Amino acid sequence: MSIKKIEVIVPPREPHYVGDGFRVHNFIPSAYRLDMHRMDPFIMLDYNSRFYFPPSDKPKGVGVHPHRGFETVTIAYKGRVAHHDSAGGGGIIGEGDVQWMTAASGVLHKEYHEETFSKEGGEFQMVQLWVNLPTKYKMSNPKYQAIANREMSIVKLENNSGLVEIISGEYQRIIGPANTFTPITMLNVKLNSHGEAEFNFPAHFNTALLVIDGEIQVNETAVVPADHFLLFENEGEQFTIKGLEDSTVLVLSGEPINEPIAAHGPFVMNTRQELVQAFQDFQNGMFGFLED
Ligand code: MN
Repeated sequence: MSIKKIEVIVPPREPHYVGDGFRVHNFIPSAYRLDMHRMDPFIMLDYNSRFYFPPSDKPKGVGVHPHRGFETVTIAYKGRVAHHDSAGGGGIIGEGDVQWMTAASGVLHKEYHEETFSKEGGEFQMVQLWVNLPTKYKMSNPKYQAIANREMSIVKLENNSGLVEIISGEYQRIIGPANTFTPITMLNVKLNSHGEAEFNFPAHFNTALLVIDGEIQVNETAVVPADHFLLFENEGEQFTIKGLEDSTVLVLSGEPINEPIAAHGPFVMNTRQELVQAFQDFQNGMFGFLED
């Protein structure tokens, strides 16, 4: 077992709006060294850093749009999101909850600030990740996993260091609730000031973290402030995180799928022909219909 070294620490880029309700810093795939192949199976990461939205009568968000070929994972740290899809599905992602949506063969949906949150206004902080699917699952049936915060597995850390919430994969042999198509570990690490946690992932897995709150020290050397993303090298297995203050850190590690990627907008397939097909299917109404 050897130490996993840090490849790069990436500060948040200038935010942009997705629709009018998500003010995000994109890390994957637009930031230096965070393209889809390097981060495989994590092909997109938009981060709405903590931001106050004033009260609004009309819920802000992003209108009807399709997805095909991958999964979207929405992690709500502050605020609440509502979603509706063309199959009649819908729900609310509350503070601390995760929605793991397998778009696969195709979903048409819209994502908005939840109505009461929208009327009252408030702090909003959210991550949306896109997780790629292997070829053999790209056209499987869509499904949702609504993971309420209370359903997540929790490991309490020694010495009053804090806790680890397991969304998927495992930590200290405790398994998280989300089912994944390929090996993916996704953890919320909540450290008290001076609390420490140790992690261990196979060297070839793509492994990274995003500091949601606070400030941390990684491998006793690098200081990583809030809203910064850290990518590890594909060598070594072990790393440590120490909270320099009360901190929340999203830790991601996944086995690369290593298949060709053809991506355009909301479609992520293996070939250009499959992208053309996705557009045709969308235009022909095969994703269903949904009112804006
Ligand atoms: Mn979407």
